[in-house]
Amino acid sequence: MHRPSRRLLAAFVFISLPVATVLLHAQAGSAQPTNASVSGIDLTQFNKSVDACTDFYQFACGGWLAANPIPSDRPRWGRFDELSEKNDEVLRKVLEAAATGRDPSEKKIGDYYATCMDEQAIDRSGVMPLEPDLKNIAALTSVNRLPELVAELHKIGTGAFFSFGSEPDMKNASMVIAGADQGGMGLPDRDYYFRDDARSIEIRKKYVDHVAKMLTLSGESADTARKGAEAVMRVETALAKAALDRVSRRDPEKVYHRLTPAELQKLTPNFDWSRYFRGIGSPSITAINVSEPDFFKAFNQVITSTPLEDLRAYLRWQLLHNNAVILSKPFVDENFGFYSATLQGVEEQRPRWKRCVSYVDADLGEALGQAFVKETFGPQAKADMLKMVADVENALERDINTLDWMTDATKREALAKLHATANKIGYPDKWRDYSALTIERGDAAGNSHRANTFEFHRQLNKIGKAVDKNEWSMTPPTVNAYYNPLENNINFPAGILQPPFYKANRDAALNYGAAGAVIGHELTHGFDDQGRQFDANGNLRDWWTAADADAYKQRSSCIANEYSQFTAIDDVKLNGKLTLGENTADSGGLRLALMAYLSSDAAKTAKTMDGFTPEQRVFLGWASVWCENRRPEYERLQAQTNPHSPGRYRVNGVVQNMPEFAKAFGCKPDSPMVSKNACRVW
Ligand SMILES: [Zn+2]
Repeated sequence: MHRPSRRLLAAFVFISLPVATVLLHAQAGSAQPTNASVSGIDLTQFNKSVDACTDFYQFACGGWLAANPIPSDRPRWGRFDELSEKNDEVLRKVLEAAATGRDPSEKKIGDYYATCMDEQAIDRSGVMPLEPDLKNIAALTSVNRLPELVAELHKIGTGAFFSFGSEPDMKNASMVIAGADQGGMGLPDRDYYFRDDARSIEIRKKYVDHVAKMLTLSGESADTARKGAEAVMRVETALAKAALDRVSRRDPEKVYHRLTPAELQKLTPNFDWSRYFRGIGSPSITAINVSEPDFFKAFNQVITSTPLEDLRAYLRWQLLHNNAVILSKPFVDENFGFYSATLQGVEEQRPRWKRCVSYVDADLGEALGQAFVKETFGPQAKADMLKMVADVENALERDINTLDWMTDATKREALAKLHATANKIGYPDKWRDYSALTIERGDAAGNSHRANTFEFHRQLNKIGKAVDKNEWSMTPPTVNAYYNPLENNINFPAGILQPPFYKANRDAALNYGAAGAVIGHELTHGFDDQGRQFDANGNLRDWWTAADADAYKQRSSCIANEYSQFTAIDDVKLNGKLTLGENTADSGGLRLALMAYLSSDAAKTAKTMDGFTPEQRVFLGWASVWCENRRPEYERLQAQTNPHSPGRYRVNGVVQNMPEFAKAFGCKPDSPMVSKNACRVW
């Protein structure tokens, strides 16, 4: 369930879940909207006492916000969450039926789920499922044995010291090479180890307490556990010092260093990579993207300068941490206490079944997804999406052709990239084959470990081969979407193609404003400050004239500066550079959706509905998906780690840059929703 992060991809999704997604799902009980509208919009979501030109988000969402307090087991509650809640209910039925199913793939998800639900058996076994690995760690008596041990841990999904896997070669994107990246830190971000404000200091103190408690639960004395926790903090701080911050990691050139195994070996004289490769069972490797060579130098320094006892404590912690959610109740509760309660303000855990649904989704997502698709996804949705994709792509083509700041040479390249962008809608053409993965009734930890090993080897087996662009990085029930810059394709899982994003036969203005803007958002990612550095074939290659690149940077820095002034919470502002790609995609996405709608057949005969003009309903379609309440702790964590802005700025930040919005709602030039210095890239 804990996978190495897929570096670039994470930055191109529509909405991202922080820390570990497994901590963040589900809660029942949200009332379905009362919906007597003509267009299909929820008439109870508005707060019409607020002027749309003063605060469009409050105008569009105020009623919903007041009626939808955050459930006690959620860090945030929004329209996205309502939908993923609904999807969870569908998945639960599928899994309960599968528990008695005969078809092998059905039996697999049914057995995994039933085993996860048997809390009593899991509680009885305590830390026992980890005993063999704890023993291996205790037997580490020389740094020379580290490669084999780290390999064993990585195989079962424990991310000690660094992450390893495969990825397309950024400069030859049709081929897969090996990838080694920073990792092995338990706090949400490298900056968490160094910030010196009171809240950050408190979090670090609580983190050390948490590590100590986990070590105690695994059987260590309080004194040994305390010393171990302090050692963990020293090791992770040393790794964090050499790790790149999130803004730097958005720069592809900063995370691309294609090395040979011999060159990687030179960075870490005391860690034998050939033994690590043998340990993980990798195919032969000729090239590795070592995203941050300095991090690996620091890793070598850490393993040579840290006492063995401290290294063992660090590895024990990593093992416990990465497996906490599948162990007995004391581990689950302690893990929840730090990662959900302290870091995100959540008051209680999700019901067991919701957690188990999310674990099956993480480990057997495409087996579970097949049943989900049968239940929820029809040909109408696919046809409507294909039509909207074509309309939005046409809108971007018209937009590029009329840009006054871009020369013809760069326009030709941009159009070539646009025309080469592929789309995937709903679910994979070819489902993943899980036949090599054994799932056993009654072995929860073993199932998780075998699933992690299966996935790790699936990734490693791609090394040296051509990229398979038909693969998906999200499972079908996921309420999200993504652009893959290395494959130049946009991807929309079935999970998001439902209300409030899309509904067959409802007002087209709402569908374009929501689902259409999601399409526009993903398409714009191919042309945001990061995506624009990749060409039509997904290669990291500069296709811009110097003058056009300068004009682009000037325009995008307008957006970065604007969002840096928005307050997340207390004295914490949004990080305009961290969120630049997403904000650019939101801005381009909504503009393209509006253009696409206005040139569609539906717009030709559109009339005022529910008191709103067609143009107004496009903006309301967008705002509707972003209604959300957030806990203060969560707000702070997000501002410091998430490349996406909070919902209220994804609405107001975007519309205040659009003269189209001011016109649609008749806003006066001095209205808060009319920016004096309107930013625009696309
Ligand atoms: Zn995005």
